[in-house]
Amino acid sequence: MRVAVFSTKSYDKTFLDAANAGTHQLIYIEPKLDAHTAYAANGAQAVCAFVNDHLDASTLKILAQQGVRLVTLRCAGFNQVDLAEAKSLGITIARVPEYSPHSVAEHAVALMLTLNRKIHRASARVREGNFSLDGLLGFDMHRKTVGVVGTGKIGLIVARIMAGFGCKVLAYDPYPNAECVATGASYVALPDLLGNSDIISLHCPLTPDTHHLIDAAAIKMMRHGVMLINISRGAVVDTRALIRGLKSGVIGSLGLDVYEEEENLFFQDLSNTLINDDVFARLLTFPNVVITGHQAFFTEDAMQEIAKVTIENITAFEQTGNVPHAVSVERLV
Ligand code: NAD
Repeated sequence: MRVAVFSTKSYDKTFLDAANAGTHQLIYIEPKLDAHTAYAANGAQAVCAFVNDHLDASTLKILAQQGVRLVTLRCAGFNQVDLAEAKSLGITIARVPEYSPHSVAEHAVALMLTLNRKIHRASARVREGNFSLDGLLGFDMHRKTVGVVGTGKIGLIVARIMAGFGCKVLAYDPYPNAECVATGASYVALPDLLGNSDIISLHCPLTPDTHHLIDAAAIKMMRHGVMLINISRGAVVDTRALIRGLKSGVIGSLGLDVYEEEENLFFQDLSNTLINDDVFARLLTFPNVVITGHQAFFTEDAMQEIAKVTIENITAFEQTGNVPHAVSVERLV
């Protein structure tokens, strides 16, 4: 099958080529997929897309007109796809529902430890020959309360790791998970989680219900000095409200791997250009904020699995017209 692979980076090519082993004709396209670039899929029956590709109605229509019948996502989240439009155009949407939830969960914990022990500042200081400890005071994670919002595959692993640290884990999810309860976590209402956690870690998907789940009102309920980690999707938090929370001290530290407006920033080298996003630039001024550019998924294990499942989706579609990991609009209701 001929597959147009959008938003390709060199590492995507490395892992996809290895998993494909010459089975499908993969056409690598560097630009993001949107209504302007969709024409590059000409001649392909399938498109392979990533998190910040625009699979809105206009892009999907152009893909359908060109004969594309499958869009396979190299990620778990599918908030970037207009599923109803895809269905009406007869385009199958596939994804990689689970590649390595460990990669993402471990990155959340890496952000927690970095913020708590100020590793980002300590490392820069030591390189400058500054061995002062002023400003580097952390706290024992042991016995602290960690609130996990969304206890699916990733949130469950975070809950397990935090239980291993000796933390008390509070969980919130509209669909509680017995495996999470087995880790010792207690399910509570969201306001209780927000009001009683020293660390809050977000692991829910971005949906209309979770858009700006953490807004000014939610921040008001939090303990003064709380650590907040968002590794799910940028728009689960209201970034402007976070900045106000940081300025007031309610948010004592903030770790982000995702950002509401990340599509114009992340996954590219902008080190020789000006960052025109003033909200993002403001975030970068806080010493108690650590931001990574949507890299939580980026481990060798996860990349191998993403490539393997993506090729399986394409092969199954070619052979049977179905995919093992389809996303349908019906599943969301
Ligand atoms: P999952 O589907 O296994 O779990 C999501 C959980 O969130 C489910 O248990 C669901 O019931 C819960 N949920 C739904 N609505 C909620 C709400 N309003 N409040 C609280 N919980 C709610 O998904 P997962 O594999 O654990 O991934 C979670 C999210 O992490 C993905 O949707 C994606 O956005 C994000 N993610 C980020 C990266 C990264 O590199 N930063 C990588 C993979 C996934």
